[in-house]
Amino acid sequence: MEERLDMVVIGAGPAGEKAAAQAAYFGRRVAIVERDRSPGGAAVKNAGIPTKTLRETALYVTGFRQRDVYGVGLQLEPHIALRHLRSRTEQVVNTMTAAVANNISRHGIELIHGAATLGPDRSILVTCDDGGTRRLQANVILIATGSRPSHPPGIPFDDPDVLDSETITSIDRPLEGLVVVGGGPVGCEYASIFAALGVHVTLIDSAPRLLPFMDAEISDLAAAKFRDIGIRVLLEAGRASVERDVEGIKVVLASGETIRPGKVLFAAGRAGNTEALNLDEAGVATDERGRILVDACFRTTAEGIYAAGDVIGPPALSSVSMEQGRVAACHAFGIPFKQPVDPLPPFGVYSIPEVAMVGLTEEAAAANGLDYEVGRAWFANNTRATIAGATDGLVKLVFGRDDRKLLGVHVLGGSAAELIHQGQAVLYFGGTIDYFIHTTFNVPTESEAYKYAAYDGLQRLARSST
Ligand SMILES: Cc1cc2nc3c(=O)[nH]c(=O)nc-3n(C[C@H](O)[C@H](O)[C@H](O)COP(=O)(O)OP(=O)(O)OC[C@H]3O[C@@H](n4cnc5c(N)ncnc54)[C@H](O)[C@@H]3O)c2cc1C
Repeated sequence: MEERLDMVVIGAGPAGEKAAAQAAYFGRRVAIVERDRSPGGAAVKNAGIPTKTLRETALYVTGFRQRDVYGVGLQLEPHIALRHLRSRTEQVVNTMTAAVANNISRHGIELIHGAATLGPDRSILVTCDDGGTRRLQANVILIATGSRPSHPPGIPFDDPDVLDSETITSIDRPLEGLVVVGGGPVGCEYASIFAALGVHVTLIDSAPRLLPFMDAEISDLAAAKFRDIGIRVLLEAGRASVERDVEGIKVVLASGETIRPGKVLFAAGRAGNTEALNLDEAGVATDERGRILVDACFRTTAEGIYAAGDVIGPPALSSVSMEQGRVAACHAFGIPFKQPVDPLPPFGVYSIPEVAMVGLTEEAAAANGLDYEVGRAWFANNTRATIAGATDGLVKLVFGRDDRKLLGVHVLGGSAAELIHQGQAVLYFGGTIDYFIHTTFNVPTESEAYKYAAYDGLQRLARSST
């Protein structure tokens, strides 16, 4: 017998949870089908939440932040440090999993444990964990099945010393060396977490810059800071091969150099979870990379079927996935609450130090032919950062020369992912750098750097117009 619902969401990650909650909040009868034992998706299990917890714990158990200021760090036995990392991460993951489960149940959403496949006419077959099956029929289906690490051909992922961003979370013995392949956010985050823990880390990428979507000045500075904390950063390194011989796992660089790291982490892209869904039968089209095609309202090519989150491709962030899910649910039921997804989302990379951006980079402003100027304020001149001993980095503003309209904000520093939101607010409301000049900031704060970046920008304008 088919059970009829207003909406069935496939996948209980950030996109699915928030879409379901949005529809249920506005009175729709909703179920989520999740194949994993617990809800939360990659975000809770092996992506954002575990990595950020590992980062915080690594900084804490090593006294990393205090080393430069007081000359003391903690010298925990590596296996004790690892025990703290694992137990704290497990604690936070459990708490956040419970928070997601609680949100689902308090919205009156049924969570069905099983794997979903699509059938014709918005029907869904669920193979339940208990071995049984359920047939659902929905007015609206949202596919929010997320992604998994992609495995480039020729790399022996079945080797226990070759890891991806999921398997690395299960490391149970201290590492001495790690090669990280991929200089995107995941690679930079893991490289700096392990470097903070005292592991010899080599970070390699075939591109000329780490974090290539970031402002070039910021990504160059990030690479310099990573080198300062002991990471060997190799750029334009070509394609590395990985193989095992009698001495263990080895990475052979395009230059011919051989590294024997102990473990290798591949952090090179994600692939959408679509194979098991039977998309063809449901009439849902994908692009050449297997990503589900959607329009601006997250409608797929099949009527009544929407898709959101990593399964539709970049930017593949929890933050954006949640918004996509909410917008999809509102569109599907004509709820006039949320329409387009914010076109200017912030990006945060939780490396050590953190990097964040919103809006245009200096390179993008130039490429768009905009007449722009920049203003910078370095945390080395900031009182709060000096007191905290976190003087790495800066706030950089990109703004129009004629109207001083803010175009982009870039932050490198201890709290970059938090600080970016002030710039984001000004950008969202179409403000100018005058906002930072004329408003009063708490003193001492790192936020104050915005004011001095704006003053620096004004001085540059004045200098260039005389
Ligand atoms: C290491 C790492 C760190 C990250 N850090 C951040 C960060 O700091 N900030 C940020 O914003 N983003 C971060 N991200 C990205 C973020 O994790 C993803 O963008 C986010 O999880 C995508 O959410 P989603 O709902 O689309 O999919 P997912 O979180 O992948 O959830 C999809 C769910 O669908 C389920 N599913 C799949 N197929 C089926 C099926 N057939 N039937 C039933 N259930 C199914 C899966 O089990 C899963 O639970 C990080 C990613 C990685 C890899």
